[in-house]
Amino acid sequence: MSTKQIFVFLGAPGSGKGALSRACVKNLDWKELSTGNECRKHRSEGTKIGQEIDFAIKSGTLVSDGVIIDMVAQWIEKHVDSTSSIILDGFPRTVPQAQGLIGLLGHEGFGALRLRIFQLVLDDEVIVKRLSSRLVCTNKSCQTVYSTLVDSLKPKKEGICDICGSELIRRDDDNPQTIRERLRTYHYHAQSLLDFYKKEGYTIGQINADQLPEQVFENFLAVANIQP
Ligand code: AMP
Repeated sequence: MSTKQIFVFLGAPGSGKGALSRACVKNLDWKELSTGNECRKHRSEGTKIGQEIDFAIKSGTLVSDGVIIDMVAQWIEKHVDSTSSIILDGFPRTVPQAQGLIGLLGHEGFGALRLRIFQLVLDDEVIVKRLSSRLVCTNKSCQTVYSTLVDSLKPKKEGICDICGSELIRRDDDNPQTIRERLRTYHYHAQSLLDFYKKEGYTIGQINADQLPEQVFENFLAVANIQP
């Protein structure tokens, strides 16, 4: 059995993890899990864990590690057989989540999995601008992201998703106060997460995220040494 790869994209909210993940899905036929998208799905469906998620999203804080690790484990179990590579966008965000993921890699039902870690690097000021101009599709199975600032990322028809035709909105956590709280939460955990991976012997590929999505994708292919 060939070794499958799990790619972890680390980076602040708005650093472009989602756009890079979607480029990998489109161009390399990989599968992606965005824990943020999954959380928003639970929230809108009002599931048992939806209430905890609702509070965390509104306040810009994190959902508890146990809930998120279960979510990721179930998703990997469901998709691992049908793809060569999995991307985790927005997970892990804490050291216990990173430990949980390493534990999952040893799950015998998943076969051989190689973990590869990349960090999208971008200044906070650029992030605040990006998030303040971000629009997202309201269809929870789509959740495509647009920008009102960058021409190539604007929807063809104002306020409407190019992919599925649903309405576009500003995410309720993309407001200045929650953005600041999300960045604070990110920085609080980021360094210990990076230190943890270094201690475990992983190399962390650095991607310059202050570029257009297609350039970020090219940069990722080069750093990860992947031939499309
Ligand atoms: P995102 O779309 O990645 O910015 O995530 C939106 C929100 O979902 C976050 O602010 C958290 O409340 C929650 N969330 C997403 N991923 C995680 C995670 N790995 N751990 C804890 N909470 C998460």
